[in-house]
Amino acid sequence: MITLFPEKYLYIKFIDSPEPSRIVKMLKHKSKAPSTINLDILLQSQKLTSLAWRTSTAMERIAHLKKIGSWIKDNQQAIREALKNDFGKPEAETDLSEIFPVTAEINHSIKNLKKWMKPNSVPTPLPMLGTSSKIYLEPKGTSLIISPWNYPFNLTIGPLISALSAGCTAIIKPSEMTPHTSDLVSTMISELFDPSEVAVVLGEVEISTELLKLPFDHIFFTGSPSVGKIVMKAAAANLTSVTLELGGKSPVILNEDADLTDAAEKIIWGKYVNCGQTCIAPDYILVHESQQEKLIMEMKVALQKMYDPDYKGIEKSPDMARIINDKHFKRLTQTIEDALSEGAALVFGGKYTPLTRYIDPTILTNVNNDMQVMQEEIFGPILPILSYSSLENAIAYVNSKPKPLALYYFGKNSEQTSKVLRETSSGNTVINDCVLHFLHLELPFGGVNNSGIGKAHGYHGFLAFSNEKGVLKQRVGINNVTLLRPPYGIKAKQIIASLIKWF
Ligand code: NAD
Repeated sequence: MITLFPEKYLYIKFIDSPEPSRIVKMLKHKSKAPSTINLDILLQSQKLTSLAWRTSTAMERIAHLKKIGSWIKDNQQAIREALKNDFGKPEAETDLSEIFPVTAEINHSIKNLKKWMKPNSVPTPLPMLGTSSKIYLEPKGTSLIISPWNYPFNLTIGPLISALSAGCTAIIKPSEMTPHTSDLVSTMISELFDPSEVAVVLGEVEISTELLKLPFDHIFFTGSPSVGKIVMKAAAANLTSVTLELGGKSPVILNEDADLTDAAEKIIWGKYVNCGQTCIAPDYILVHESQQEKLIMEMKVALQKMYDPDYKGIEKSPDMARIINDKHFKRLTQTIEDALSEGAALVFGGKYTPLTRYIDPTILTNVNNDMQVMQEEIFGPILPILSYSSLENAIAYVNSKPKPLALYYFGKNSEQTSKVLRETSSGNTVINDCVLHFLHLELPFGGVNNSGIGKAHGYHGFLAFSNEKGVLKQRVGINNVTLLRPPYGIKAKQIIASLIKWF
């Protein structure tokens, strides 16, 4: 789709006007976009649209969302096929984790957008008496959305729904690792939008690097913490705001009083949906030392029930996705080998098939911090179990690592639940379940520090692409008291002293 020219410019096939003045004309006369353009000019064209969209109404924004919704409805099978071709994703999982979250996001925004866009009056503090104030949510303007490969439809179109709801234009850079889905997203966007509104730029790291040099008004990046740092550094050059949806090691703490049968089923599903290639997948388990054996037994039962009900072997299950590519396959198998060679115990799985990039759900015990498996985000079907002797130890272990994107806690005692909530920090915490919070559109979704900056979904996604503009209207307030202006006399000093004392 894109040719990288030796000098500075990248060209996109579907537009051919390199002249900003022609872009203006194109917009004015609504002429059809020609076929190549450099990225600077693409952004300039979106800048013009974003200025026009500053005054867009809720109905106009909703019209954008509705056309995306209808396209998805008409092309559901094409989306399933693209995901199947990219990494053997089961259809039911595509429907549940790629399509449903996006259609739910669309419907939620359509239902609430008018309310979200309304300026909010705020109370007037006493020293501000005589003024009235409101918070206006204005579109930030132009946005860049860079998405990862693991939920390539959901994590590309989800943020776009937030951008369009907020009235922003968007240039989208999907992942190069899922070519079928990224191509489909590109087709969808070119059918629905003019490139001066929303455009897809396909390509690898070089394209991202070029895009990141441009002065967008907001960058919404989903991906790894290491690339998140590159994105934030690049954004700093233009003082562009960022939302960073990153990853990391999301722990599960099982309290002594947890229902292990229930917990095992939920953990197995949360871990093995998308074959463990989920940013919020349980990364490792902390279980009380007295419960480890029972937990392992329950997890084996759950795996059998969900992925091997006919005893043909999990590899034959139509519900287990495959590893995205050879590079990740090699990384994961080496992680298993490293752990085993360092003394980890294999309690389930451990087999793999390079040809189909299948890796068994693999459960390890006797792991330690020196092993790769406990150092990096696993992002695959390996699940290490660590045992602890007291809840304090489990909490201290979690706190010794970077703050996770999600923390899962299973237990009944409410005091101990509160203790875990109070004494740990994570982007989201789920009590007695796993992964489910992603689908709750009233909750902010995202990380904290190493696992992310800023939040997504529903109103929180809308806020990410909006500037909260505080507007103060003076009527008869304190600044009208001429006594408070220089030269400051004794009266002014007395008034200022009272302000400090009383407010
Ligand atoms: P990644 O960071 O390697 O790539 C993400 C995107 O950034 C891709 O489009 C890629 O082309 C681009 N990119 C890669 N290197 C770049 C560079 N040097 N400069 C500029 N752009 C670059 O991530 P991935 O492998 O696609 O996805 C896996 C990671 O994403 C995991 O860490 C996972 O936890 C995280 N993730 C987070 C969320 C979330 O919502 N928090 C969701 C899904 C995945």
